[in-house]
Amino acid sequence: MHRLPSAFEFQNSVETIRAHHWRSYTDTYKGCEFECQYCLYKGPGEYGRHVRPVDGSIPARSDLGIVDIGTTTDPYQPMEAEQKLTRSILEAAAATEIPLFVLTRGTLVLRDVDVLRDLASAGLVEVCISVITLNEDVAAQIEPGAPRPHERLRVAEQLAAHDIPVAFHVAPLIPGLDTPENVAAMGKRLAEACGSHIFSAMLGARKPYWAPFYKSMDAAAEYCGSFETFERAYPRDFDFSRGAADTCDFEYALPALTPLRDGVTAGGATYVSENYPFLTTGALEGGIYQWKLPTVYDMASWIEARGAVAEWADFLTWYRGFGPSERLVGLVRSLWESGELFLGTRLAKQNDGYVASEELLMPAQHTLVAKRTPVA
Ligand code: SF4
Repeated sequence: MHRLPSAFEFQNSVETIRAHHWRSYTDTYKGCEFECQYCLYKGPGEYGRHVRPVDGSIPARSDLGIVDIGTTTDPYQPMEAEQKLTRSILEAAAATEIPLFVLTRGTLVLRDVDVLRDLASAGLVEVCISVITLNEDVAAQIEPGAPRPHERLRVAEQLAAHDIPVAFHVAPLIPGLDTPENVAAMGKRLAEACGSHIFSAMLGARKPYWAPFYKSMDAAAEYCGSFETFERAYPRDFDFSRGAADTCDFEYALPALTPLRDGVTAGGATYVSENYPFLTTGALEGGIYQWKLPTVYDMASWIEARGAVAEWADFLTWYRGFGPSERLVGLVRSLWESGELFLGTRLAKQNDGYVASEELLMPAQHTLVAKRTPVA
């Protein structure tokens, strides 16, 4: 029987509903040898030499929806060369027709071109390469264990040459890391390399890694586009009181996101903003997205297209067509009621419904913040 490492529901918070279509995620390794200094999931004893394969597995099932591999730790870190756990997932997915979204910084993904081609020919896979800068000096300081940016670009181009769908994930986007001109140039370069879409998310600040991360940024300062811009957006004494992985204020986020979006658009790809759905430039359809769950952007687009107030009952009929779990429906309902669901869109709340608006639904200063609270 084909088995997967334990799979978890991915759309379990407003952050994940905001931008991700995946229904489930799974990790092959606990910890990550790439040691990016900004890694959100870095915990004591989990990185560098402490990396180990994950425990537990489940039978591979085709009802998992799009399964994301690489959400928490990289599936193609050096240990995979020997363990081949990620490859076993690809093989299980090919045998049971599970659609996969594979997120990686690793060049080892090229080893699996044979299985990826099989998956791609059935429309079952997209490989997303994570790149936050094309500046090799900066990358060497803040992503010391990961393949360099030019190597990741080469990987993307080779995958695309094998007709394997490729996207890029520019995350975390760090204000001031590059000049706006270089951010736009990177967006265009990535768009031309993949031709499909570029996801991006702002840097999430978390207390456990903040001091060492700032140290690596200090070391990279002379190579940065504007270290002062970074310091203004993310002060050394960042306020962690809200308890979630928090991003900078909108006034700093927008000047970083806009050049990226413009560069991606100029390069002929779709831009997908994970923090601010209104910046997303187009729908994701076909291929693995035929199994998708709607993101907040999709939901807002559906409401805008109605041209009238969308009540919960109408919305729910449409939403259930995508097969969300009851747990997820409950979460979406609570976020619908509180108004949090549509922050970052151009919708206005009217009684129990929403309608298209000229105004951006957003707190005055801060970008989107949410805690990963369990769903009852
Ligand atoms: S590759 Fe991903 S999981 Fe690994 S250290 Fe970097 S950010 Fe963390």
